[in-house]
Amino acid sequence: MKGALHLGTISGIKIEIHWTFSFLIIWVVFLDIQKGGNINSALLNVLLILILFLCVVLHELGHALTAKRFGIGTRKITLLPIGGVALLDKMPEKPGQELLVALAGPAVNVVIAILLSLFIPFKSYFGMDPSRLEGFLNTTGFQSLLLFLFIANIMLAVFNMIPAFPMDGGRVFRALLSFKLGRVKATEIASGLGQILAILFFMLGVLFNPFLILIALFIFVGAYGENQMVKQQSILEGHIVKEAMLTKITFLHPSNTMEEVVNTVLASTEKDFVILENNKIAGVLYQKDIIKNAHNPSILIKDVMQTKIRTVDVSLTITTILEYIRNEKNTFFPVTSKNEVVGAIDMTNISEFIVFKSEPYK
Ligand SMILES: [Zn+2]
Repeated sequence: MKGALHLGTISGIKIEIHWTFSFLIIWVVFLDIQKGGNINSALLNVLLILILFLCVVLHELGHALTAKRFGIGTRKITLLPIGGVALLDKMPEKPGQELLVALAGPAVNVVIAILLSLFIPFKSYFGMDPSRLEGFLNTTGFQSLLLFLFIANIMLAVFNMIPAFPMDGGRVFRALLSFKLGRVKATEIASGLGQILAILFFMLGVLFNPFLILIALFIFVGAYGENQMVKQQSILEGHIVKEAMLTKITFLHPSNTMEEVVNTVLASTEKDFVILENNKIAGVLYQKDIIKNAHNPSILIKDVMQTKIRTVDVSLTITTILEYIRNEKNTFFPVTSKNEVVGAIDMTNISEFIVFKSEPYK
């Protein structure tokens, strides 16, 4: 995600905070001043938010470190105003593993709450009437901080277990359904429920709390996206690069000029090019580099092509290519067979392949 501040690295996982997080801080200070607070009370509230988000980081680490036990890496954990996001390299596909990875986050908050409860004199709070208890929570002091964090961690665990896929509870729901129905059907049902709950969150958000609107959008888009992804994966299962690759492509030479490239682009539908020298791949000329240098017709390809590129073998699965596309932000790869160039594969072609392999509309 762009515009994030790197906080540190834990167990190989980058922890970062997104710039929009500053809105949350401003909002907290604004609310405090509106309530008649001063610098001290505002700072205290900011501190509370930061401690709360420390619990969120621990929650995300719960997911990430459990995924790691199943051999799935996590690139980073990003803190957003609406909570944390752990960017796993991929989702565990075995329902048992997904279940454990999903439960691990809320479980961390439950453990924190249990540990805190050891230091909280609950008995003395039971007799208090609600307004006095609220007043106590607003006071500064170690005991009120403990109680605040206890309640917050319970709420984090409960909120995340709402079965609104792709929230944790929704992932638990999908994993349980997957045991019986298979992943595709399970995802369809879980994301359907997720979208219904997202609409409910949205309406509650309009009435009560703008943060719920953000969370609702996050769930709605996430549920749709993951459902599409799982469907695609099931369509592509077992299919290899050879079936979907481009074979009629123009190979260019490092000594070709940008003028020649532009003419080739205009004469065909090709956007990215494999550059060959003595029948070996010398590099790739990407569309973005063509656009950047199109005003300079005499510049040579060898000066603008990328040489650090990934080539893929004809026998690789197409789902592996989709993983490369997702993780490397690159959508075009030269294809080789026995170290000879035989073509290329790009996202447009994979999309076409998916359309042809999908079930026809009835
Ligand atoms: Zn979680």
